[in-house]
Amino acid sequence: MSEQYDVIVIGAGPAGYVAAIRCAQLGLQVACIDEYLDERGKPSPGGTCLNVGCIPSKALLESSHHYEQAQQQFAEHGIRVGQLELDVATLQKRKQQVVRDLTGGIQSLFKANKVAFHPGRATLQQNNRVKVTDHDNHATTLNAEHVILASGSRPVELPFAPFDDNQVVDSTGALAFDVVPQRLGIIGAGVIGLELGSVWQRLGAEVIVLEAQETFLPGADRDIAKQANKLLGQQGLDIRQGARVEAIHSGKTVKVDYTDGQGSQSLEFDKLIVAIGRRPNSEGLCADDLSPGIDERGFVQVDDHYRTNLEKVYAVGDLIPGPMLAHKGMEEGMAVAERIAGQYAEVDYDNIPFVIYTHPEIAWTGRTEQQLKDAGIDYRVGQFPFSANGRARAAGDTDGLIKVLADAHTDRVLGVHMLGPRASELIGQAVIARAFSTSAEDLALTMFAHPTLSESFHEAALDVGDRAIHRATSRKNKRK
Ligand code: FAD
Ligand code: AMP
Repeated sequence: MSEQYDVIVIGAGPAGYVAAIRCAQLGLQVACIDEYLDERGKPSPGGTCLNVGCIPSKALLESSHHYEQAQQQFAEHGIRVGQLELDVATLQKRKQQVVRDLTGGIQSLFKANKVAFHPGRATLQQNNRVKVTDHDNHATTLNAEHVILASGSRPVELPFAPFDDNQVVDSTGALAFDVVPQRLGIIGAGVIGLELGSVWQRLGAEVIVLEAQETFLPGADRDIAKQANKLLGQQGLDIRQGARVEAIHSGKTVKVDYTDGQGSQSLEFDKLIVAIGRRPNSEGLCADDLSPGIDERGFVQVDDHYRTNLEKVYAVGDLIPGPMLAHKGMEEGMAVAERIAGQYAEVDYDNIPFVIYTHPEIAWTGRTEQQLKDAGIDYRVGQFPFSANGRARAAGDTDGLIKVLADAHTDRVLGVHMLGPRASELIGQAVIARAFSTSAEDLALTMFAHPTLSESFHEAALDVGDRAIHRATSRKNKRK
């Protein structure tokens, strides 16, 4: 007899593990299957995010930021550290320990919530039977009334630059370099390219990022993207827009051929990171006689309830269309669990925070000015630079600004855009404000602790009404 569950979740990434835990909290019998093994060959739930994504990248960003600070900032605080030394092995060991602690945490949460964790590869079959092939190649079958597909995504390969786990690597390879490359090439100036580029550039690599599009960070606010581009350039990240890579030649070094406005160019690197995006893991997820409805880009199609076209089979996370972000997947995991349990749940796709963990950090939620213009919406702008913020000055971290966009008629906050220290944390305040349909005036009337970085958000909201206090240049706003 095969094991019977109320719900089987395929994939233990942020979308899958959250769905599994929430289903269990709601009284359902749950199994979660995940095939990932860590570098020791041990099952390691947490998906891309915990194992080879959000968490290890932030661990390395943190370490490399400390290194850069010790080199460039400590002296002005009167701290002399003498000869700095970088120990990449220790830095990597620390990163791995952070990952292990957190993935171990997911195993504990599964136990505490009585989610049955099955390491192995899952294949969905007819009638919501799920075949699990474990790492010793033993197959078992589990049954469930409901199945949630949360198999996530993987890096896209360029046909002419296949990953070789040595010179030409994906993000996973780039998180695991054991020495700092001297010359590092990156294809793609998206979030992953910029974050990993920052890590290795801070640690001493000469980094060149080649990006096919002419516009830097096309999804971000234009002023913020422009300033960020300039600052990253000053830090030493050589970002070349309009540079389309067309061929590579691997030998002692990797030679990269690209074309830009000037014609054909080529560069040589020790390592090349291909960071041109990710594609959903939808192939082989179901038996041959079954398809959950997959579009031309490989995404599983779902309705507003995360239902696929198969009876009681749902899909969430990177596997379905939408921004490939852990928190978006987690919210979908919660929502699908609650809907299966007969509750009402909704994800607010209009209020997703986007964050890029460069330094300064870039973060936003809601509409950009361009989107408001395109939609013909009248809006007012309030902005405030971190250079006028006391806490930022005390920290010596004054690059960037916060911009608030509010409806010119209703004053409702339509978008908030940040470039600055801890923007990843500050954006949460804007997300809460927008979740409650706050007006710029509401924010202006709210008290913020002094001295904090968040006062810049307050001042930007005040500036929507032309009444920022700590800004000498009052601009005659601004109805656009
Ligand atoms: P995943 O996390 O990909 O998990 C899917 C799991 O399913 C995997 O463990 C996989 O092994 C397993 N699986 C797949 N098929 C099967 C099968 N047939 N049987 C069994 N198991 C299977 N997002 C952010 O929000 N913030 C960040 O800072 C951030 N940084 C990132 C940095 C990097 C370098 C990368 C690569 C990604 C980053 N992301 C970030 C994106 C984030 O990791 C993903 O959006 C998120 O992990 C998607 O969650 P998911 O649960 O849908 O899928
Ligand atoms: P993202 O999808 O945010 O990870 O960003 C990936 C980036 O890679 C996009 O901005 C693409 O324009 C860029 N890209 C894709 N293919 C190439 C290529 N052949 N050469 C240079 N850039 C590319």
